[in-house]
Amino acid sequence: MSEFIRADGVHKSFRIDGGTVEVLKGVDLSIEKGEFIAIVGPSGAGKSTFLHLLGALDRPTAGEIFYENAGLGQMDDRRLAGFRNRTVGFIFQFHHLLPEFTALENVMMPLLVARRNRPQAREVAASLLRDVGLESRLSHRPSELSGGEQQRVAIARALGVDPKVVLADEPTGNLDTKTGDATFELLQWLNRERGLTFVMVTHNEKLAHRSDRIVTILDGRIAEKA
Ligand code: ADP
Repeated sequence: MSEFIRADGVHKSFRIDGGTVEVLKGVDLSIEKGEFIAIVGPSGAGKSTFLHLLGALDRPTAGEIFYENAGLGQMDDRRLAGFRNRTVGFIFQFHHLLPEFTALENVMMPLLVARRNRPQAREVAASLLRDVGLESRLSHRPSELSGGEQQRVAIARALGVDPKVVLADEPTGNLDTKTGDATFELLQWLNRERGLTFVMVTHNEKLAHRSDRIVTILDGRIAEKA
C-alpha cells in the first residue's frame, strides 16, 4: 500500500465572541490507499473538524493536508471545490436527502451537477442503487424508506462521482444496532470491492474495532494508534 493522504501538523482555530478557540492542536496522520480508518474520541475532541479539513470543506489554520503529495493549501477556492467534488464522497449521520425527490433522483443529482447527461446519470444512479441493495426502491421518496434504506441512498449518492476517499461522520449514529451493523458492512464491502479509502468518525466501539485502524483524537491531538 502507498500513502494517499497526509495531515501534517494540522491546527484549526475558530474565532468566537472576539476570542479564539483552538480545536486541533497539531494533528499528524498518514492514510494509505484502501485503508478503512475509524476515528474515535469524546464529543467535542475535534473529530468532525478534522474530517472537514480532510475533505477540503474547510482549511487548516496552520499545517497542511496532502493528497498524493499535493498540498491542498496551494489551491485557490475554485480549484479546491473542484478537487473536493472529484475526490471526496461524504456520508453524514443525517442523510440530508432531498425529500421531494425519489431515491433515483437523489443519487442522480450530483451526477447532473458534474455535467453528466440525464440518461448517463440515470444509468449510473440505478446501478449504484443496485449495488447497495435498493433496486426495488428507485422511485420511493425518502419518507417511504426506512432509516437504513435512506442511509443506503446517501451512500449511493456519495459514490456517484467515483470518489477516491469516502469520509463518513457517524454514518450509523442515527440507526438501531442491527441496521447500523448492516450499514457498516456495506461500507466495508465497498472498501474491499472498490479499493476505496474510508475514514469514519464513530462513537461505536464495536464497529471501530472492526476497522483496519483506530485513531483516537483527544483534546485536539491524536492520542494513540492501534
Ligand atoms: P467532535 O466531532 O469530536 O465531537 P467537533 O470537531 O465537532 O468535535 O468540535 C470540536 C470543537 O470545535 C467544539 O467545541 C465545537 O464547538 C468547536 N467548533 C466546531 N466547529 C466550529 C465552528 N465552525 N465555529 C466555532 N467553533 C466550532
